[in-house]
Amino acid sequence: MKYAVIDRGDTLSQSLAEQFHQLAAERGFEREDAEPDIVISIGGDGTMLQAFHNYVHRVSKVAFVGIHTGHLGFYADWKVNELEELVSMMAASEPIIVRYPLAEIEVETPTEKLQYYALNEFTLKGADATLVVQMNVNDEPFEMFRGDGIVISTPSGSTAYNKSVGGSIVHPSIESLQIAEIASINNRVYRTLGSSFLLPRHHHCDIISKKEQRLVLAIDHVSIQRSDIKSIRCSVSPHKVNFARYRPFPFWNRVRDAFIDM
Ligand code: NAD
Repeated sequence: MKYAVIDRGDTLSQSLAEQFHQLAAERGFEREDAEPDIVISIGGDGTMLQAFHNYVHRVSKVAFVGIHTGHLGFYADWKVNELEELVSMMAASEPIIVRYPLAEIEVETPTEKLQYYALNEFTLKGADATLVVQMNVNDEPFEMFRGDGIVISTPSGSTAYNKSVGGSIVHPSIESLQIAEIASINNRVYRTLGSSFLLPRHHHCDIISKKEQRLVLAIDHVSIQRSDIKSIRCSVSPHKVNFARYRPFPFWNRVRDAFIDM
């Protein structure tokens, strides 16, 4: 088995990464940073987001496993004291591969078209002032949005930023995108839907900039700022992310453990 490890960079995560390499060498796993089959993320959900983006160019060829060094993560379900058990299971059994939907955007500027993928979400905000954008769904005008921002989340990202802005939690078997508002302006003059909505696969939403504005576009944990964005097309990606499960941990159990039985 060819594997790579991405750790959060703190002392505990680094020492666990070293331990993992030792245990893996004893089992005859091959360390392969460029083209691994399995990527082990050691840290938190943010580390898994980083691991995903490090290998997004070969997303269909890798499967991810997460070890959390802090509280239970949505993407990191192995505990620090379970490292040996994980390596034994990796050596002894084939994992079940769970595939989760990704979000895809195409950003159009006057000079280029840029494509990005998100595991959690894209977030669009105005850098200096209220965000003003026209939203079209499947090429039909939908609404004119004025407010703080828009969160475009995947099902597995629905428990992250999307949840904080009142969006619904969506099971990752439902191939969809959720579009949620951050503090929209609603009065006699301005009107938006006022709730989040789900787009199925093969539908798309265009977000068109309606004034000269500097936009902050967050792609999971990384933000960029640009003044030249004309429009952003959002859709469910044809690609999916693979997670290697050596034992079951159903999505709704994660939701319960993270938000209810804390
Ligand atoms: P981080 O790793 O500190 O993550 C922030 C928090 O979000 C952590 O508690 C993490 O466990 C949790 N989280 C991340 N992905 C999750 C998921 N899919 N389901 C449930 N919880 C999840 O910070 P970071 O590395 O910058 O992570 C970026 C993420 O932080 C973004 O993708 C976004 O979802 C989230 N975020 C949330 C808010 C908010 O809730 N108001 C604001 C900004 C960013």
